Amino acid sequence: MKIPLVYSETYLFHQPPSSHAENPERLKTVLSVLKENPIISPEQVGEDEPKVVHDENYVNLVKLSSKRGEWLDADTYTNEHTWNSALLALGGALTAYKNKGFALVRPPGHHAGKSGRAFGAPTLGFCIFNNVAYPILKFKLKRVAIIDFDVHYGNGTQEIFWDNPDVVHIDIHQDPHTLYPGTGFPDMIGGGEAKGTKVNLLLPPLAGDDLYEELFPIIQSILDDFKPTLIVFSAGFDAFEDDGLASIRATERTYNALGLLGYGNKFYAVLEGGYSVGLKRGVKAFVEGLEGEKKDYAGTKSAERTRSKFVEFFSTEKRILREYWKI
Ligand SMILES: [Zn+2]
Repeated sequence: MKIPLVYSETYLFHQPPSSHAENPERLKTVLSVLKENPIISPEQVGEDEPKVVHDENYVNLVKLSSKRGEWLDADTYTNEHTWNSALLALGGALTAYKNKGFALVRPPGHHAGKSGRAFGAPTLGFCIFNNVAYPILKFKLKRVAIIDFDVHYGNGTQEIFWDNPDVVHIDIHQDPHTLYPGTGFPDMIGGGEAKGTKVNLLLPPLAGDDLYEELFPIIQSILDDFKPTLIVFSAGFDAFEDDGLASIRATERTYNALGLLGYGNKFYAVLEGGYSVGLKRGVKAFVEGLEGEKKDYAGTKSAERTRSKFVEFFSTEKRILREYWKI
């Protein structure tokens, strides 16, 4: 069964004033490799809906910046269409939730926290509203597992659900000592009742598919233990080898396996990052996985030095996770 893609041309109107990694071409690239999937339109949401996720000051700031076409910070631009695109990106996530689909939206969202920049991040990292969080908060969904495999830490999402024990957030990302946003360490586990529900799994620069493969049994054990009724993918493809903004070497092998985590479950996926090759090869393999097509792609192997750094992270992660999960 081909999964539906949620898409609208409105997502193309949010445009940078000059050359920028996060640009409308990204969505055209994704569409060019998913020609056989049905496309459905996102539902429109009202102007108050961003407040389901964000505080009023931030929502007003976005609206005003968009009107003026100003930069929100050194990374994150707006233009006159940003407000509408960002509203419809929330709607896209909603439609993906209702139709078990993949929302191909812009602007992206996982770095946007309740009040904008999250956990002291220097910028919003191209994000406006936290799309992936919206259906969960809108419908007060419980027993949700978010899997964020964008190469950057989904600081906004993790901050939004920090104290929420109903949402497990598993975030796989490049070592934050070496990449934006500079947080997302294994000891960040959530607050209060939610302790242990926030899981940060780190990969050192140059990590290949072989190291992702070691993470999958842990992720599967947490899912088996938590028994989510819904799996949500914050789907970034910038960990793909040579995608451009980071230095992880994931390929089809990893993205296919990530997609398979959704197969047979209720899920929705929302596009985050991915800037070149990841949007073709990574996206295609991920969607194959979501559709239950397990493929034996050859994977990349990590050097011994990279592996030992990974083992260092992984033993810390496992020690922390064992307090909360049957792993
Ligand atoms: Zn990213």
